[in-house]
Amino acid sequence: MVIVVGLIIAFVLMLLLSNRKTRQCKWRADRSRDRDGQSYHRCVVCGEICFTNDGKPPKICRTEVPPPSL
Ligand SMILES: [Zn+2]
Repeated sequence: MVIVVGLIIAFVLMLLLSNRKTRQCKWRADRSRDRDGQSYHRCVVCGEICFTNDGKPPKICRTEVPPPSL
């Protein structure tokens, strides 16, 4: 029982941490820039460009740059 609870807590913590990392990023796919079978993604917040193999946006933001204050 303790192991199950521990797994659940670890899972929730993982979700929270990943959400915090990707919170600032808004990835946009651009099919016209795909190359070598990889999907082009650009973060409209920090300007980071990333290619992914699975066609999905990256899970993390490489540059921890806060968005401009409104
Ligand atoms: Zn970003």
